[in-house]
Amino acid sequence: MAWEWRLIQNECTGCGICADVCPHEAISMPREAAYPEPGPSFCIGCMACVKQCPFDAIEVKQLTALPAE
Ligand code: SF4
Ligand code: SF4
Repeated sequence: MAWEWRLIQNECTGCGICADVCPHEAISMPREAAYPEPGPSFCIGCMACVKQCPFDAIEVKQLTALPAE
């Protein structure tokens, strides 16, 4: 099952909490960056970032499988 996080950029303050709480290194917050970026690993849909973001600036959704041909 694949998951994807998405930033709501106009709500994000770049605080980096999401990157700190992500247990799977799916989000990184480079020191020089204004916003979080994709990390070295993939999202497992744990929702920790969604729960901990103080600004409701991150969404996580499950990717739907492409229809088989
Ligand atoms: S916790 Fe929320 S506000 Fe902070 S960097 Fe992550 S998405 Fe942006
Ligand atoms: S849902 Fe979990 S694994 Fe995915 S980006 Fe958020 S904290 Fe990381």
